[in-house]
Amino acid sequence: MAKILDGVAVRNGILARLQPRIAKLGRAPGLAVVLVGHDPASEVYVRNKVKACAELNFFSDKLTPPADISTEGLLAIIDTLNKRDDIDGILVQMPLPKQIDARRVLEAIAPEKDADGFHPMNVGHLVAGRPGPRACTPAGVMELLKHYSIPVSGKRAVVLGRSDIVGKPQALMLLHESATVTICHSRTANLAEECRRADILVAAIGKAGFVTAEFIAPGATVIDVGINRVTDAAEAERFGKAAGFAKAGSVLVGDVHPLDADRVAGAYTPVPGGVGPLTIAMLMANTVELSERRQSLTKQGVI
Ligand code: NDP
Repeated sequence: MAKILDGVAVRNGILARLQPRIAKLGRAPGLAVVLVGHDPASEVYVRNKVKACAELNFFSDKLTPPADISTEGLLAIIDTLNKRDDIDGILVQMPLPKQIDARRVLEAIAPEKDADGFHPMNVGHLVAGRPGPRACTPAGVMELLKHYSIPVSGKRAVVLGRSDIVGKPQALMLLHESATVTICHSRTANLAEECRRADILVAAIGKAGFVTAEFIAPGATVIDVGINRVTDAAEAERFGKAAGFAKAGSVLVGDVHPLDADRVAGAYTPVPGGVGPLTIAMLMANTVELSERRQSLTKQGVI
């Protein structure tokens, strides 16, 4: 049986280390969360983010413009948030409704208030290995590897998925820690074989249980970023989650087949309870860092 990497324990450690830094600040860090419309999954994510702010005594402001807001309307909201002194971090919950130009919105967030680390300037900082807010989910994965003292330097890492929010930044973060990194995607040939070469395999594709035993080298560390809701009883049973399904009518499954990971990997993150809790913890960490920087610049009279 493989070792289970407990994301909740890592999250608790990250939040505990933030407490003394928050206590040192002149005012509470401020995070603005913009939720457009009523996407049920987004509502849950935003609720959890606002809850985490309350736990850490952050100031949080939740803005809920209507689903039919225009790009210009949303840009005006971002402009106001950019100028507010009590706001250190801004997050626009994705996905945005179709009529909105999401790229323009993300680029309108002031890079020094970019809590998600998605602004092109901060992506550039990541590429160059300079300080700046980092994409939360891959940054959380790096914290988890560190927490469990899983060696990265000189190891083969395979990242399955090449999105801007997970796959690409994850690959760069692993590269900065001197892993030999391969990025796989939907056009990759011999996908299972590529993945099987990994000492560290990070799966982020959004396909329930796609990564099966043939993708996993015996003893590898498998990080499962995927969050997929399974609503079919037979499928839930295939993932060893029949009991959870009977209770709730649906279950969450990652991109990795949990029973196969348990059988073949050396260690793996469960879903739920693996990478998920780390994303919000890193959002809090980014906001504290942005607040520290802004408050220090204010003290020096720079802004
Ligand atoms: P995207 O849909 O943006 O990207 C998916 C990536 O997976 C793409 O690069 C795509 O390749 C690749 N892919 C899709 N199907 C296959 C396939 N059959 N074989 C190989 N590659 C494939 O997803 P995200 O990166 O946003 O999210 C990935 C997963 O992580 C989702 O389940 C999401 O819910 C979850 N997630 C979890 C978070 C957390 O906090 N735990 C945070 C963010 C995301 P191509 O580019 O070629 O199309």
